[in-house]
Parts: sequence; C-alpha cells; structure tokens
Amino acid sequence: HLSKRLEKVAEFVLEEGTVADIGSDHAYLPVYLVGNGLCEYAIAGELNEGPYASAIEKIRANDLQGKVEARQGDGLNVLDGRKADTVVIAGMGGPLIVSILKKGQKFLPDVKRLVLQPNVAADQVRYWLKNNGWSLIDEAILMEDGHVYEVLVADRSGVDPYDLVDMRKQLWLGPYLMEERSEAFHKKWKREYDQLKRIYGQLQLARQKQARHRVEELEQKMRWLEEVL
Ligand code: SAM
Repeated sequence: HLSKRLEKVAEFVLEEGTVADIGSDHAYLPVYLVGNGLCEYAIAGELNEGPYASAIEKIRANDLQGKVEARQGDGLNVLDGRKADTVVIAGMGGPLIVSILKKGQKFLPDVKRLVLQPNVAADQVRYWLKNNGWSLIDEAILMEDGHVYEVLVADRSGVDPYDLVDMRKQLWLGPYLMEERSEAFHKKWKREYDQLKRIYGQLQLARQKQARHRVEELEQKMRWLEEVL
C-alpha cells in the first residue's frame, strides 16, 4: 500500500513511456506505477547501496523485472544512455532536488515532465524551474501523519502562472496553491505565520539596528500570509 503522498505524486506521472524515479529507495513508486498499468516502464534510480538493494528486491518480489529497472548512480546520471518521459524526485529537501536537477542538466532535454515533491523549501524548486525553461503547470498539497507535503508539476508548455507584481509571494506560497487555499495549505501557513509572529516579537524586544532588514522581511511575509489565511 502506497502512502497518500506517493499516490499524489503518481497521479501526475505521464502514462506513456518511461518514468525515472530518482532517489527511489524501495522502488515503491515505480513498482506501483508499472504494476498498476499507470506507466509503461520505470527506472528506479538510487545513489546508495542499501536502498538500491531494497529496490532490486522489491522489483523481484513483484515479478516486474524487465519492466522496472533499478539503476545505481548519482541523481540523473542513471539516465545515461536512456530516455525518460517523466522524472520524479520526491521525499527530499528542495535544495537537494535543485542540486540534482542542476548537476543533471544535460539529461533534461528529452524529459517531458518533472514531478517534484520537496519536503521543505518548495520555493527554491519553483524558482529554479522558472529560471530554467520549465513551466509550473500544476501543484498539490496534502496532509499525512501531521506533515504537509507539496507536489510541483512542470513541463515545457510555456504556461506562466506568475504575475510580475505578485511573483515573490507566488514563488513562496505556490501560485496554484494560494488560489485554491485548501485545508492543508491553511494548516501549513498558519503554522508558519504563528512562528513568524513569535520571531517578530523577539526581534522587537531585541531592538537591534542590524535586525531592521530582517524585521522588514518578516513584516512582508506576515502581510502576505494575512492575505491568504
Ligand atoms: N523517493 C522516495 C520517497 O519519496 O518516499 C524516497 C525518499 S528517501 C527520503 C531519499 C532517497 O534518495 C534515499 O533513498 C537516498 O539514498 C536517495 N538519494 C539521496 N541523494 C541522492 C542522489 N544524489 N541520487 C540518487 N538518490 C539519492
């Protein structure tokens, strides 16, 4: 049984062609996708020996050799000599996802869709996508076991969900998510708002000159959140 988080990720994978799940761990996602006929072929990429071995075992246990292939390697290097239509990178921090995309630039021209699920710092992923020719076409946010997860979907369609005036706010909150304002969205940002408010109070008590810039940034963020909460 797949987590709600990975089920959501799976919804955005293109049915035709190959999906590459980078940092696949037990290959749960590739096995689910191909096993359920939701994708034709899958590569489970893993850097580390332990998870790579688990991926091989999981594929064998599900009798999916020949349709799901485990490959050991760093990031997108597992695409050397292959093509993937969808690339999934899930369950890592935004900065690690961005570094994998950056290091693997040369493998991206053949990729039609990216499905990225940063555990933190989704704004850094949106920012990278925007500056590297990818269009953010959809987003999802969900709650599972007290955690809030975001899923970002990008392709080459040229769709641009950002407005010049609101761009910084949209990169932070997610242009689609802030329109939709779901329960999970509200939960995540209410938490953040309460935390900012606490820090703000502390900074004001400290009354340090050097804190001026930080205070202004906090005020901006709190105003943005007051608009959407
Ligand atoms: N993607 C799965 C998920 O969402 O449930 C597993 C997430 S797990 C927290 C992160 C996995 O990424 C680990 O198995 C780790 O070994 C792998 N990993 C970390 N850095 C990687 C890299 N540069 N290339 C490939 N895999 C990597």
